[in-house]
Amino acid sequence: MELDSDMSLYLIDSNDKKPRLESCLMTLHCNQCNTVVGDSQSVCGEFKSMKSIMIVRVTDSVSLSDHTESKMERESNNCLHRSLECSSCHCILGAVVESTPLHLEMLRSVFLLQKEKINCYILEQSKMVKASDLVFDQKPISESIHEAIKLFRAQCDQMTQLHNRLCVNKCL
Ligand SMILES: [Zn+2]
Repeated sequence: MELDSDMSLYLIDSNDKKPRLESCLMTLHCNQCNTVVGDSQSVCGEFKSMKSIMIVRVTDSVSLSDHTESKMERESNNCLHRSLECSSCHCILGAVVESTPLHLEMLRSVFLLQKEKINCYILEQSKMVKASDLVFDQKPISESIHEAIKLFRAQCDQMTQLHNRLCVNKCL
């Protein structure tokens, strides 16, 4: 599997700024006609061997081809797929995988957008960049849980301190 253990999203060429996916809102566009095809809220990772963004939802401007294609090439990992097409300019943007070897079954429930066909508009920076200049890996869930536990403990400590102060005031 090609998914990295460090699953943060960061810009490769952004003066060492490394915003994470959750702090970097962007829209995804067809690089031929600029039609919006998705957004960063729906991105769930990157599948590096197919140079594709894994995304759970695309806009209505993306259509699915009627026929299933079979590619037995190494880079497509022997998957059966249907092409995703931009409804405006009709270029192929990626694929939906319908049948995969068992070790790639997580690909069956997502859309794959080829990075070379996608541009990203980063809302905070008002800037369009190529998807191929970005990394869309996600942070491991264990890291998110660890952060949530730390936050919860800090809030719990704060509540305890408040409770103690209230008790002291009540006794006076
Ligand atoms: Zn297009």
